[in-house]
Amino acid sequence: MSANAEKQHNPLDSMMQRFDEAARLMGLDETVMNVLKVPAKSVAVNLPITMDDGSIKVFEGFRVVHSTLLGPSKGGVRYSMDVHQDEVKALAAWMTWKCAVVNIPYGGAKGGIKCDPRSMSKGELERLTRAYTLALSEIFGPDTDIPAPDMGTGQQEMAWIVDEYSKIKDQNSWGVVTGKPLILGGSLGRVEATGRGVMVSARSAMAKLQMDPTQSTCVVQGFGNVGSISAKLISMLGVKIVGISDVSGGYHNPEGINVEEAIKFVQNNPKRTLEGFTGGKQVTNAELLTLPCDILVPAAMEDQITAKNAADIKAKLIVEGANGPTTAEADPILQEKGIMVVPDILANAGGVTVSYFEWVQNRLGYYWTEERVNRRADRVMKQAFDNVYLTAQKHNTTLRLAAYIVALDKVAATFRIRGGF
Ligand code: NAD
Repeated sequence: MSANAEKQHNPLDSMMQRFDEAARLMGLDETVMNVLKVPAKSVAVNLPITMDDGSIKVFEGFRVVHSTLLGPSKGGVRYSMDVHQDEVKALAAWMTWKCAVVNIPYGGAKGGIKCDPRSMSKGELERLTRAYTLALSEIFGPDTDIPAPDMGTGQQEMAWIVDEYSKIKDQNSWGVVTGKPLILGGSLGRVEATGRGVMVSARSAMAKLQMDPTQSTCVVQGFGNVGSISAKLISMLGVKIVGISDVSGGYHNPEGINVEEAIKFVQNNPKRTLEGFTGGKQVTNAELLTLPCDILVPAAMEDQITAKNAADIKAKLIVEGANGPTTAEADPILQEKGIMVVPDILANAGGVTVSYFEWVQNRLGYYWTEERVNRRADRVMKQAFDNVYLTAQKHNTTLRLAAYIVALDKVAATFRIRGGF
């Protein structure tokens, strides 16, 4: 399934449809709905960058702060040619709901730069990241708005952001960004945190569905940070990974894919993709999603499970590693088929949870062991899952709408007590 073929879906509309439905189910009053529907702040910047060949290219960057009701806003920065303001708005609101679902004291934000990081040199990426940080230095801050990695960004970009911000403020300010390298105040366990949370969510859901992990199979779409770690940790539960994919296509092996080997393959491939991987038969990304399996983990990008392919999905359980991988139109089809969907704002919240731990450690100046990070993150994820599950039962609805209800309830209550102007 090509990214372009899916572009007619607007992730903001998808988010809003779920928001409206959850608000209706819980009887949220219209005044509060109107406050929470729109972002608090939305900024677009144009960044002129000197390229290696001496030319100057202008890049479009965005930062959307959806809400700071529960605390400083938190959210990743995405580098992709598909970045646009509506996408960033939807992702920012999702961050508000996500932080509320796992009960951490943050609001929601998201940022992005329209660029193709794979075609840029390290120097070009560094200049772009520093220019973006400078342009947003009045918005970013450890007590105001805290970026993190997302698609196309990682520890190196976070290191440039913390360095540039610290220079601008003339003091080392580790807490301005999370997902940093360990040497710059990063947290043990952060790199694996999102995939680990996906695994904990899958494990909790499998227990509810009485699925035996050792008799179950799983397909994972996307093999970057979230997809590869999810695949690895889910396979460590005893689940057989029968399909993986990335931008180069899908790879299917009903006998089971050796995930460690696939990770090594990508690390050693100059293209940093699965292209040429021989551990499975080649399939397209569209075919991958409808392969026979028990668990499907979409961990690539938005709008992958749609009204067009939802009816063909064979999995009993979908655990959303990516943000917004299922369109609102696909939800009722999956529900009708009795597929349990652990929604993005719950399933992939392990990343922001450990980001919060990183920020706490930066502020304490005291660093935890990996064991402590993982134990606390697993507890947060398990509690959030159980809370959402109970809410779904109470309202007789899906886990997705239940997660929205948990989040909206908390954010709305905070707004009511804080008040407007
Ligand atoms: P990443 O850049 O590390 O990996 C993305 C993967 O998706 C790559 O393997 C890429 O090849 C693949 N991909 C890209 N286009 C594809 C396509 N059309 N079909 C199939 N695969 C494709 O990004 P990531 O950090 O792993 O993020 C993946 C998703 O998880 C995003 O939706 C992101 O918002 C979400 N997420 C990430 C984190 C985090 O901590 N990194 C936390 C929460 C949610």
